[in-house]
Amino acid sequence: MIESTTVLVVGGGATGTGIARDLSLRGVDVTLVDRDGLSSGTSGRSHGLLHSGARYAESDRVGAEECIEENTVLRSIAGECIRDTGGLFVQLEEDDPEYFEEKRAACEAIGIETALLDADEARERVPDLTPDVERAMWVPDGAIYPSRLGAANAADAEEHGGTIYPHAPLEAVSVVDGRITEATLGGTVERTIEPEHVVNAAGAWAGQVAALAGVEVTMAPSRGVMVSVAYDELDPVLNRCRDPADGDIVVPHADEAVLGTTSVPVSDPDDYEKAAWEVETSIEECAKLLPPVADAPTVREWWGVRPLYAPDEAEGDRRGISRGYFVLDHADDGVENVTSIVGGKLTTYRQMAETTADHVCESLGVDADCETATRKLPGADDADRLDELVDRYDGQGPTDKDVIAQ
Ligand SMILES: Cc1cc2nc3c(=O)[nH]c(=O)nc-3n(C[C@H](O)[C@H](O)[C@H](O)COP(=O)(O)OP(=O)(O)OC[C@H]3O[C@@H](n4cnc5c(N)ncnc54)[C@H](O)[C@@H]3O)c2cc1C
Repeated sequence: MIESTTVLVVGGGATGTGIARDLSLRGVDVTLVDRDGLSSGTSGRSHGLLHSGARYAESDRVGAEECIEENTVLRSIAGECIRDTGGLFVQLEEDDPEYFEEKRAACEAIGIETALLDADEARERVPDLTPDVERAMWVPDGAIYPSRLGAANAADAEEHGGTIYPHAPLEAVSVVDGRITEATLGGTVERTIEPEHVVNAAGAWAGQVAALAGVEVTMAPSRGVMVSVAYDELDPVLNRCRDPADGDIVVPHADEAVLGTTSVPVSDPDDYEKAAWEVETSIEECAKLLPPVADAPTVREWWGVRPLYAPDEAEGDRRGISRGYFVLDHADDGVENVTSIVGGKLTTYRQMAETTADHVCESLGVDADCETATRKLPGADDADRLDELVDRYDGQGPTDKDVIAQ
């Protein structure tokens, strides 16, 4: 079977579904494909922290600004796809007080709201917080349920004329005279798509998808583990206030606390070691903030792979590689109708989608404004409806397995 589409989006994570929604709302005909269910890649396997930007404030001002902007937008459009928990940056006895001050000043300069808590006030908010707490800083962090977010974006794309194909891996493309003319889908969909433009939103797999068109995109994926333990006493996100390191974030869910994470380079995002030390370190380090999690039963653990982009790949744990995003126009690589979007964060998916859609619209000659920052996602205020959408797209990932109605 042969179908035509204006834009073929490859990848059904937050970024790809966000792009499909954005383009559909601008009146562009879109087909989105994922090789598996939606959110089966990194989006559904992340820590699920809705960043306030405080984590990056002193080291990456642009990234922090993107986070607080999108944090604010998602609070108004995403309803039950997120949870407003607030967050604390916690300084322990062994942590550098100057780092705390630097972060607080950077948050204030950027416009990220903060409130200073002394040790007693911090322990009032979180009674099980370690006695080693020196002080803490409240910030507007939250939790994201990525399965719901991806499904709601996909549903809005479909409601505005788009086509969503889960279980449809892109297997091959034909490039004729510097343009992709045909894309071959396998899986349960098995058909050929004739696109005017292709968007590569395949996250950590973006290099492999680009290679199908003979284009090089150098990814530097890095894995991390999350350990979810049974613990229902935590309200805000806890962040250790020190230079980012292993096991410094705890994300609260209703009956669980999600501990993590690590950062270890991998060469293949589908085939990598899952080291026991990463699980142990995540628990040990998070227990320095919240001691009861050391003995709490583990409910589940999962791994994800960051879609880091590094044309000049750095050595080490890859924490130093930018978490920013990059829109790559491949005309200079000899294929004029392909755009890749790489890097970024779950928190900033909508902005990544907007920037990509702006670029694609310009190359298609479409003059239409982005509407995704102001239009509520479909079903946003109805958790049951969102969970039906997750089911429709086979979109259940481990990050929010405890939240989504089965
Ligand atoms: C351990 C860890 C913790 C993280 N925690 C956070 C956090 O707390 N907060 C935050 O904001 N960010 C976090 N991130 C980062 C964030 O999760 C990612 O940046 C984001 O989810 C990437 O989304 P994406 O849509 O670009 O990629 P993905 O979600 O990976 O989507 C890409 C999709 O492409 C599909 N695909 C691949 N090849 C093909 C093909 N040939 N044909 C069709 N489809 C294909 C895949 O199946 C996949 O679904 C974390 C990342 C990791 C690894």
